[in-house]
Amino acid sequence: MKLLDGKVAIVTGGTRGIGLAIVKKYLEQGATVVLSGSREETAKKAVEALKAEDPSCKVSGIWTDLCNPEDIKKDFGNVKKEYGSIDILVNNAGISSRDSIFDYKQEDFQKIMDLNVNAVFYCSQVVAEFMKEQGGGVILNTSSMVSLFGQSTGCGYPTSKFAVNGMTKSLALELAPYHIRVNAVAPGITRTDMVSSLPEALIKPLINTIPLGRMGEPEEVADAFVFLGSDMSSYITGVVLSVDGAAKN
Ligand code: NAD
Repeated sequence: MKLLDGKVAIVTGGTRGIGLAIVKKYLEQGATVVLSGSREETAKKAVEALKAEDPSCKVSGIWTDLCNPEDIKKDFGNVKKEYGSIDILVNNAGISSRDSIFDYKQEDFQKIMDLNVNAVFYCSQVVAEFMKEQGGGVILNTSSMVSLFGQSTGCGYPTSKFAVNGMTKSLALELAPYHIRVNAVAPGITRTDMVSSLPEALIKPLINTIPLGRMGEPEEVADAFVFLGSDMSSYITGVVLSVDGAAKN
């Protein structure tokens, strides 16, 4: 018996980085996984690569516009119709920014809020309705260590992740009567495209401050999502679990 046998999961931002690591671990643990990518091409490519590794894996792709509630209703509704339930939603898609307040464009601030906050709300709202009907489920959000400490430039990103924590804790309270658990994982610096796009001069000093002395791997973050998505965490809701090597900035 695997930890996620019989569960149906949607993972947003599941085409690469932390999201792809979650998709892989969920498949290994017996789940049926629908990965959501920002484009048809990348979603299909990710599904093909997973099927090439293991032709029997139960994975498919969608390319929902996560900032469009109607699109989410349609695509997630089709997932529910096809597989009968949505047991786990992982709101993982996210973008970051390092813009200084003096250069920050309003539309860039808005873009961060749209994907990192509004999309989490829209997806959770649609799925909460299904989970209420089903008698339960799990909603997981990808937060960040900067949701606890802020960061010295790019204020939009930590602002969005503080909001994710607020939504996590509030929805945990509101949805508990329906047996829907809501938790977040707050990764520290993790080896993905999001981090490799940052200048070495910025990353190196940050790594030096991490007590475990290294950046995290996407698989180490994904393990927390397996635990929180499974019945092993059946009495845990409303937490923001740090997976950050005890980083403090
Ligand atoms: P990544 O850039 O490797 O992947 C981001 C994912 O989001 C991709 O699958 C991409 O397709 C998807 N995405 C981006 N824009 C989208 C859009 N407009 N619509 C739909 N999907 C979109 O990043 P990652 O490091 O794997 O980040 C995943 C999550 O982890 C994010 O929420 C990020 O904030 C969070 N996080 C990352 C780190 C880190 O150090 N890498 C640390 C803390 C938190």
